[in-house]
Amino acid sequence: MKNRIPFILRLADYNRFSLPVLLHALESQGLDRHFDLQVESSATGMKKRLAVPGRKIIGYGFMTPHIPEVWKELSSLKSSGGNDTLWIAGGSHVTGDPDSGFAMGFDAVFQGECERILPEFCLNGLDSGFQLKQRVFAGRTEIPLDSSFPVSKAMSFIPPVEIMRGCLHTCRFCQTGSSKKPRYRSMESVESYFKELPIRRLQFRACFICPSGLEYGSRKAGEYNPDLLESLLRVPVSYKIRHIEYGIFPSELRPETITPESLRILKKYCTNKKITIGAQTGSERMLALIGRGHSLEQAEQAAAWVHEHGFRPMIDIIIGFPGETPEDRLCTLEWARKVHLRSNARCQMHYFIPLSGTALAGRRPSPIDAASADLLDREHQAGIVTDWWKKGLAAWEDLEKDLERLGSMSS
Ligand code: SF4
Repeated sequence: MKNRIPFILRLADYNRFSLPVLLHALESQGLDRHFDLQVESSATGMKKRLAVPGRKIIGYGFMTPHIPEVWKELSSLKSSGGNDTLWIAGGSHVTGDPDSGFAMGFDAVFQGECERILPEFCLNGLDSGFQLKQRVFAGRTEIPLDSSFPVSKAMSFIPPVEIMRGCLHTCRFCQTGSSKKPRYRSMESVESYFKELPIRRLQFRACFICPSGLEYGSRKAGEYNPDLLESLLRVPVSYKIRHIEYGIFPSELRPETITPESLRILKKYCTNKKITIGAQTGSERMLALIGRGHSLEQAEQAAAWVHEHGFRPMIDIIIGFPGETPEDRLCTLEWARKVHLRSNARCQMHYFIPLSGTALAGRRPSPIDAASADLLDREHQAGIVTDWWKKGLAAWEDLEKDLERLGSMSS
């Protein structure tokens, strides 16, 4: 175990689900014999680790909204030393826009799934002394989801189990959807995950990562398999896990997939009191523009069924899409009021951020006019919508400047 190369991964709230997966991929190839795998959760800690003399690798994984934070920290670290450090980046932002990773100061970027390419990069680096012949490392072949496992020796935290990767839909603002078929975790692999939890004394809560919760195992959009859902939820029950969450982050539901039958199953096994429905807008025109593939009526019906089955419907909405008008926002807020009155729903209002690699990458959000902002405030006071969009709007101001400097905005 002597002379291992320090490999420091920067842990943040937004990448805490993926770090154990990456660490597992490295450990399962025996790379922890050659690399001292470290996880650091603070900027100060990063500085201290960087100050330890010697060659090292430092890895960041992030999404487009986190650029200002990551870039600032990276610049500060690089100016404080670390000439013999290899700075690498992965995650959905550099997957869609690798050049911006170089512009930020990274030496190499990883596109797509890293479970295979990161260990390959490390193995090749051991032979070549990390003399890079290329700077972009792309995970071109999709790995079976069962071979990705979120349990690492280097982290005590075990994230929710990812049971579906990719999506059957292609919403224009989203990085998850693609024309490629999604992959699913097998029931045997789900079992293996739950076997690990008691070893770590983590038997309190079961959650699943599934971009469209009721399409787990589906071959085509909108298909839903109640037997499979029930088999899935029975697994944590068999491990005596008391709190089972499904249909809420990170396994939100699309409106048209929600049925009374699926809700009866969720009620039977799950302890969450809320269900999150992705509707994204209350304007039919915007629904079509963003390519959602469901109607407002379906979202309204879904909220009503969710309410009738004893859950509170929480509806994800994004405001500020490119091309959204004040009239669209008025429609959205009128619709939010309607579903609130009918089904006690609350709309979770997010602000649009253009994500790299999506059809709307590089597009500016529509400004929120004063009348819309007033109405949003009033509906927030009335408990009909959240005011989360304000945080997004404030964050956009910094992000826009950075994206412009990186050359990632459309002119
Ligand atoms: S927004 Fe949801 S349903 Fe649409 S592509 Fe993304 S993950 Fe799939």
